[in-house]
Formats: sequence, C-alpha cells, structure tokens
Amino acid sequence: MGLFLVVMTLTMCKNQPAATPSTPEEALAELIAGNERYVNEKSIHPHGNMDRVGETAPHQAPFAAVVGCSDSRVPVELLFDQGVGDIFVIRTAGNNVNSEMVMGSVDYAIEHLGVKLLVVLGHGSCGGVTGAISDGEEEHGNIGHLLATIRNDVSDYVGNIDSLDAAIRHHTQVQVERVVAYPHVAEKIANGELLVKKAYYDVNTGKVTY
Ligand SMILES: [Zn+2]
Repeated sequence: MGLFLVVMTLTMCKNQPAATPSTPEEALAELIAGNERYVNEKSIHPHGNMDRVGETAPHQAPFAAVVGCSDSRVPVELLFDQGVGDIFVIRTAGNNVNSEMVMGSVDYAIEHLGVKLLVVLGHGSCGGVTGAISDGEEEHGNIGHLLATIRNDVSDYVGNIDSLDAAIRHHTQVQVERVVAYPHVAEKIANGELLVKKAYYDVNTGKVTY
C-alpha cells in the first residue's frame, strides 16, 4: 500500500513544474534548469495538459520572453522544457530584432505581459547568419531584405565563413545591445524588474550557454 501511494504520488507530480518564477533571477534559473532537464533527457513537459490550456485561456502571464531563430532545430519551448503559457517566443530566421514587428513584440512582452527575463537566443550553424556573411549570388526580395538586415550587424565577418560561429555570437550580442538601448527597457533593468541575456544554443548538444 505504501509503495502504491509513493508510485501514485510520483506519477501525479511528474508534470508539476516548480512555482512560477517571480523575479528575473528565478526566471533565468528556471530556463537553466529546464534546459538541463532537456539535455539529460529528464524533461517533465510541464503545463502541457488541458487543465493548463483552460487555466491560461482568460489571460497569459509568461515569466520570460525569448527571441530565437525559426530554425527547426531550435524548438524553444522544448529545449527549455516549458509548456503552455510559460514563455513568450518570437522567432524569425536569424533572430534579428531590427524591425518594428519584432521590437513591437519584444515591447509587448516587456510592457504588457511584464516578463522578468528576455533571452536573445542565437544558435550554431545558423542559416540566416551563414547567408548574411557568405559571398556568392545575392538573394533578392524578402530573403534579400532579411539577409541584408543581418549583414548590417555582422559586417566585419562578411566573406569570412570560417568565422561563422564568432559571427553568430557577435550577432546575438548586437541584438541585446539594441534592445537594452531603449530607455524604457534600460529603466526596467535598472529597477531590477527585467534581465536581458544573450544565449547560444548548440545544435550538437542541445545545451544553452549564457
Ligand atoms: Zn538560425
């Protein structure tokens, strides 16, 4: 009977995440812990059931926002082991924030949703940055516009594909600098209400480093 109760309790707790982070430090700690679970194949897939869907239907209150790449190898909720209503995710190819649509989304997360943490997540082998620094036939149209926007932020690396990884990391750094340069963002950081971090996702290991 005792063992049965233990098994039942463990089963019921399996998908229960820690309490929702209420400070920037707690938010970062939860993303770090979630990525560790993911890397170690110990994901608990929190907040993934219909109770959670119903609970969050009236309003959302994510504790963090992530600006990541659309790359199919960088599934943001999965790699941080988060669920419905946990993180506000903005994904574009190359995770560049230099557009009204992306910055508008970032502002929405910070101003209206009150996220405690904003992560700009670059990743290894990023096709967006690769395209931006590659020599070769120029892309036109929307893809050309996208690559030109990224290229502006990694101009020192154009033509030097051997430095792709450095270019990716530099590109992420530029996005963070761009976000924190906005006075309303800087004010929240100064007040201890928000943390903005750059991060790098390794497509080989699944690990996020900050
Ligand atoms: Zn990418």
